[in-house]
Amino acid sequence: MHITILGTRGEIGPSAPLHAKHAGVLVDGTILFDLGEREYLDRGADAAFITHLHPDHAFFVTDPTAIDIPLYAPEQAEHDMPIMVIEEPVTVGPYTVTPVPTHHSVRVKSTAYLLEKEEEKILYTGDVIWINREFHPLLEGCRLVITDGSLVRKGGRVMRDKESGKIYGHAGIPDLIDLFAPFTDHILFLHFGSWFFEDVEASADRLRALGEAKGVSVIVGSDGMEIDTGSL
Ligand SMILES: [Zn+2]
Ligand SMILES: [Zn+2]
Repeated sequence: MHITILGTRGEIGPSAPLHAKHAGVLVDGTILFDLGEREYLDRGADAAFITHLHPDHAFFVTDPTAIDIPLYAPEQAEHDMPIMVIEEPVTVGPYTVTPVPTHHSVRVKSTAYLLEKEEEKILYTGDVIWINREFHPLLEGCRLVITDGSLVRKGGRVMRDKESGKIYGHAGIPDLIDLFAPFTDHILFLHFGSWFFEDVEASADRLRALGEAKGVSVIVGSDGMEIDTGSL
């Protein structure tokens, strides 16, 4: 599969030339994951899959607009958007997209997406703390995992809502490496938090070193990056 990383900045103020846009990943020019920017709709994709309805992943939450490709998300939006709520795998041409529930927020539902084409599969998580163990067998043999670079410290920032008992926030990058290393050799981080922008090059080195220590190759995402999963 051919992956185009569209945006790698989290929901934060700081920005850098190659890390300015919000969440978005395009696969084979056909499947979009997240719509952090309205301009991603101009890519000519056949369908868009939203991980959760935070505006840095779904621009239309704060800026409702007509969207004329099939739009999938884990729940309906407040505005009258033509969302199809995804609970089961969806087929788009030769691709199968399977939702994998994630923990991230109390107010919005969140899901990762497993994308399969022939023998190959990749996972795109969006913002994430954890994926329940019952879903881990699905992740076996991923060519690439694309995940949340919000926080670099171990433990991330995870809080518990008193009323619902639900956890919310983001895992730390070391936690996500531990979570995904059993299932893949390649982890791409994007959705960077403020920590990353203090010194982009040093942060990228730090990320790669964290991967090396766990025996996985860490790829530091940048806006416009192109990756052929066959060459990984
Ligand atoms: Zn979020
Ligand atoms: Zn986010």
